[in-house]
Amino acid sequence: MSASPPDKNTAAAPPLTSVPAQGEKADKAKAKTGKKADKAAQPTPMMAQYSAIKADHPDALLFYRMGDFYELFFDDAVAAAAALDITLTHRGKHLGAAVPMCGVPFHASESYLQRLIRAGFRVAICEQTEDPAEAKKRGSKAVVRREVVRLVTPGTLSEEALLDARQHNFLAAPACIGGATAHWALAWLDMSTGDFTVTCLAAPALSAQLARLAPREILWPPALDEVFDEALEGPASGTGLRDTLSDTLPDTMFSPVESLGSAQAAALLRAQFGAVVEDGLADLADGPRCAALTACGQLLAYLQATQFGAETPIAAPRLEADDGIMGLDAATRANLELTRTLSGQRDGSLLAAIDDTVTAAGARLLAARLAAPLTDRTAIEARHQAVAALADAHDMRDDVRAALRGLPDMMRALNRLAMQRGGPRDVQALAVGLSAAQNIRAVLLAKADGLSDAGAEMDAVQSGLAADADAMLVLRDGLQSALVDQPPLLARDGGFVRDGYHDGLDAARALRDESRRVIAALQADYAAETDIKALKIKHNGVLGYHIDVPAAQADRLMAPPLNEQFIHRQTLANAVRFSTTKLAELAGEISRAAETAQALELEIFARLSVQCLAARPALEARAAALAQLDVTAALADLAVARQWQKPQLSDDRRFIIEAGRHPVVEQALAAQAGRFIANPCALDAAAAHGPRLMLLTGPNMAGKSTFLRQNALLAILAQMGSFVPAARAEIGVVDRVFSRVGAADDLARGRSTFMVEMVETATILTQASPRSLVILDEIGRGTATFDGLSIAWAAVEYLHDHIGCRSLFATHYHELTGLSERLDGLANGSMKVREYEGDLVFLHEVAQGAADRSYGIHVAELAGLPDRVTARARQVLAQLEENREADGVAALDGLPLFAEAPVPAAKPDKLAAAVNGLDPDRMSPREALDWLYQLQALAQDND
Ligand code: ATP
Repeated sequence: MSASPPDKNTAAAPPLTSVPAQGEKADKAKAKTGKKADKAAQPTPMMAQYSAIKADHPDALLFYRMGDFYELFFDDAVAAAAALDITLTHRGKHLGAAVPMCGVPFHASESYLQRLIRAGFRVAICEQTEDPAEAKKRGSKAVVRREVVRLVTPGTLSEEALLDARQHNFLAAPACIGGATAHWALAWLDMSTGDFTVTCLAAPALSAQLARLAPREILWPPALDEVFDEALEGPASGTGLRDTLSDTLPDTMFSPVESLGSAQAAALLRAQFGAVVEDGLADLADGPRCAALTACGQLLAYLQATQFGAETPIAAPRLEADDGIMGLDAATRANLELTRTLSGQRDGSLLAAIDDTVTAAGARLLAARLAAPLTDRTAIEARHQAVAALADAHDMRDDVRAALRGLPDMMRALNRLAMQRGGPRDVQALAVGLSAAQNIRAVLLAKADGLSDAGAEMDAVQSGLAADADAMLVLRDGLQSALVDQPPLLARDGGFVRDGYHDGLDAARALRDESRRVIAALQADYAAETDIKALKIKHNGVLGYHIDVPAAQADRLMAPPLNEQFIHRQTLANAVRFSTTKLAELAGEISRAAETAQALELEIFARLSVQCLAARPALEARAAALAQLDVTAALADLAVARQWQKPQLSDDRRFIIEAGRHPVVEQALAAQAGRFIANPCALDAAAAHGPRLMLLTGPNMAGKSTFLRQNALLAILAQMGSFVPAARAEIGVVDRVFSRVGAADDLARGRSTFMVEMVETATILTQASPRSLVILDEIGRGTATFDGLSIAWAAVEYLHDHIGCRSLFATHYHELTGLSERLDGLANGSMKVREYEGDLVFLHEVAQGAADRSYGIHVAELAGLPDRVTARARQVLAQLEENREADGVAALDGLPLFAEAPVPAAKPDKLAAAVNGLDPDRMSPREALDWLYQLQALAQDND
């Protein structure tokens, strides 16, 4: 077995026989030393237990708890040691070979888990589930009972340390009912927040939907690929859904699961949520309903299989209407670099350029909105209205953002508490969140005039902040009075309850602390009494409190009369250790007091958690309202800072932009003190207020792709509820944006550049509707000129005549510009350039009419191609153009293909000419000096 996650899903199962004998204690000792080999053919009881548990979890690394460590054995150890870069040791022998082993300390296990999960492993956590004292009662060789209590997988995380605060962590399950005439559904949930959603969709929309969510883990019934291929007769069929997805979702784990029947799924959902789920899906037809139930049930079954009976506090699934969201397929998302750049980075993406949120929950909501722009005009306008209100209310916005900054993640804290994985900091997070919500509510109320026209979105925020107001104040005060200002992460560490909060706890702590002081006094007394200044009272795990004296002076304590009081416990090389009755009594008192204090703190923690969970709906309402407010205020801030304007939406099919800018390129240029040139765009699918299709020509590097993308981004920004980087934008709601920009080889999937290009173009031409916005950048480029030109030609005609949607089409095929004479709704545009003293200056301005030529060779010169090559290229080009004029369309016959390449004339070198013309022997010193000055001036000219 390999050390890296073979299929990202499997870790090796260990052999089941023959590892050392003698029970757990001996096992532990050997595990530590790794020295003694035992040739017994029988496995030790502990190894037998290990192997039995491992056999149930062949797909996961088994974290086997031994004392303060999680130990891994056999191939698990090899794989984990490599992934974690920790030492691989060995213990005992199996079939004559040492058993590989490595371990991670229990207290630091989260960081190791995080690395393993990132590396694509899943991890089974196996804990001791009985007190070792109980095990001993069954005999000295009895093994402590252990059970797997949780299977940690990327999609089921909830711990802060394992999660990215600003990203959702989705677990998704597609389901399909009914073979080739299938109904499909996709359910997804975020365990860390409890969000649970399901949608019914057509097979071709599945990969787009998954691309939108970018789940960390997808549950994958083995038959799904086949059914998907059958269901999909379109362009992507034959490739397998999982293959299709694995490129667009590189960080996703695909977890094989057994397919669930819809009846079984419904029963699971009923057991967890009662009848609400089925009621919520009642309006759907049988097929979609069964698919939705199955997808949701599949997720629940997986949670049960991974959480082993622990609470899974997820909300009942919400049905998301498929038609309320703008369609953006995986290729479009990738091409437009919405949340990641083409190279996979967040920096440089649209999300990074617009994310000014100040809370983690706000960042997640902004990303979710960007990933799913709306198509419902009322809902979009409500978002715009809220942004407009906060953009105008400058002071209020500042106050709100200041109060939001650094706010803890209430949703995730609440969910951890519900899953019994929370700690004092989670309770504190809720207290802090409640306070912030209260302050922010006060700010909003104080400046209510500014919000009188803020619309439904801000109303929702305000009512979320006001939910159960009085009870929440009581809860907040209760939590604040209970907790210290900086509580520890884990409840078991204690010390998080404020002094004065609980009398019993105060008393236990006083006793514990007092006893410690008494011990310090006792040490001084004993030192005086024995006259041994170096006498110390120390504590360790084996002896507890004991008296430690240097070996040289120990005899005195072992001789009368002191030996009556001092009882010998241990002799070391340099020290001898004793105890006394008084010390033992005091130690007992301390430990009882400490235990009492810890038990009381745990009790208080449990009570506070219950109080928080009882207030869950109101806390969730506040968390949601704060996230919404963060997004709205951030977008408002952005709009003001970068002079973005509120777009005007309509039900027609226009797309009129004045002075539009590309938000990411503009930001990048601004960082280098460059200026972005704004450009208008006027399209109308009805071809009344502008062309339906604009054909854009112009030199390379002139800004065609930027212009195309910026218009797609404007539509997306507008419909996600943001203002847009334009002086004015009038947008008839777009149902889907399609973008095909540039071509990328997809050799891993066995497809050439051209094949990828054609698959994506086919998707657009088959799926675009009259309400869509299509961006096509140089299609047909990846094949022979005539084939490419013909395909581009036919695609333009098809878009114009059959689909009739708004389209922008950039091309280097100048032949296409002639189409404007035949197609009423087609207009030519071009990127302006100016030639200045033989150099090309890009003006980045879109002008009406076709470009006169491509200037490709100029750009090649700029890029530093050798002069000989560009000179030859000019020669070939001239001949090609001559032939084209003669024959209509370019013909290659008669090209001087084998003619000798012209050698570029060398530029006259004035400096060399001047120097060669000098006769130093005939020059006076004065003339020589003058000449030197002249030569210097010439040299500067040459620079
Ligand atoms: P090619 O045909 O080679 O793909 P192109 O015409 O599509 O080139 P772009 O890639 O869009 O050109 O733009 C090239 C560069 O020009 C961009 O990286 C950007 O820096 C700059 N640029 C583009 N548009 C503008 C603009 N409107 N204002 C300022 N700079 C711009």
